[in-house]
Amino acid sequence: TKAAFDRIKETDDDVKAFITLNEDEALKRAEAIDNEGIAADKLLAGVPLAVKDNIVTKGLKTTAASKMLENFTPIYDATVIEKLNAQDFINVGKTNLDEFAMGGSTENSAFFTTHNPWDLTRVPGGSSGGSAAAVAAGDVIGALGTDTGGSIRMPSSYNNVVGLKPTYGRVSRWGAIAFGSSFDQIGWITNSVKNNALLTEIISGQDDHDMTSSDRQVPNWAANLNENTNVKGLRIAVPKEYLDEGIQPGVRAVINNALKHFEELGAIIDADVSMPHTKYGVPAYYILASSEASSNLQRYDGIRYGFRAPDAKTLEEVYVKSRTQGFGDEVKRRIMLGTFSLSAGFYDAYFNKAAKIRTLIAQDFANVLKDHDLIMGPTGANPAFEIGSEIADPKTMYMNDILTVPVNMAGLPAMSLPAGFDNGLPVGLHIIGKAFDEQTIYNAGYVFE
Ligand code: GLN
Repeated sequence: TKAAFDRIKETDDDVKAFITLNEDEALKRAEAIDNEGIAADKLLAGVPLAVKDNIVTKGLKTTAASKMLENFTPIYDATVIEKLNAQDFINVGKTNLDEFAMGGSTENSAFFTTHNPWDLTRVPGGSSGGSAAAVAAGDVIGALGTDTGGSIRMPSSYNNVVGLKPTYGRVSRWGAIAFGSSFDQIGWITNSVKNNALLTEIISGQDDHDMTSSDRQVPNWAANLNENTNVKGLRIAVPKEYLDEGIQPGVRAVINNALKHFEELGAIIDADVSMPHTKYGVPAYYILASSEASSNLQRYDGIRYGFRAPDAKTLEEVYVKSRTQGFGDEVKRRIMLGTFSLSAGFYDAYFNKAAKIRTLIAQDFANVLKDHDLIMGPTGANPAFEIGSEIADPKTMYMNDILTVPVNMAGLPAMSLPAGFDNGLPVGLHIIGKAFDEQTIYNAGYVFE
């Protein structure tokens, strides 16, 4: 734990991965664990890890990178934190993100932008940019993230680390600050596939606090990764939409190399596959996720949570001024887009239509996965971009998510795995699996790594 804080002190002035450091508490806890002696059944005794700042931590400030929650200290722990506490982990601190996890660069944080440790002029991706940068900088071996439309996988791709979004329902969302509840899922960004498997195992499982959490048995993913793990005969689909002209040539080259490697390891690559609704994913996702967000964010009314405008004189002013001053531009954009899409006059034209597209996208996946084990392609069409280069143009920013959002619409598990470099910048391989089959994704990642 001391070494983790030493490393954070070395790197974080430049990288700015953390909003809040938990140094005093963490060192106290580590010392207590040293004194108690490490119990054999505690899987994480004294292991320092980081937590995205939209996951609530009892007694430790949780901001969602929003002015709205700048001084918010939760009175309870998220279920994932309870599970980690039960294994004696050490929480070193809370990592930066796009405000309420809305964004793809951490530039939407109300406080500061995180920098990519591979090139400090570039974004770390988002919205879990702080978590990915903390792992890439060597501060911690794992950091919790959330993924509504790619927020674990995209920053993992940009930072050359491993990020897995579990199947929807695998991990309890209790205590994750809600964005798009039918898409949100908590998962890990880690320095290795095996660490990811072990950590995800620990946070998975049914939870009475989350009706959508699944009672499926959680396999021993990590223990199943060993010298016998292989990909012989594994059927890998590479949809033609995943490597088309929209993908930067350097990225395509890295991915083709990775696929060749899987072929050498005995997998069967099938590139004669189409996912025709992929291109509708971004518009449909931004309507649906923003609709859910507009509803979830109603609770920030200046009364129940967080910020209240100091100059408000009437009840109406409390609502209007608190929300006007407490939310950033991107959050307001989504609330407006979502409220519009849900309004009586436009519901059928927007929300309902987008919901139908969601079904078509899920069917695309079902068709391909019925006779393939995995789907692969790039996580992003390009490597990390320059800070400031896209923030003024939301549509360009949204288009970065073209390959990640369909997975959330179908609720499937998917990983971004370091695959190589394009001009010195990391490129992630996107590995999508069948629902509740995280094991096959981990197996592929493990043999490739
Ligand atoms: N970039 C996407 C968005 O802005 C995904 C965010 C996320 O997964 N939290 O909505």
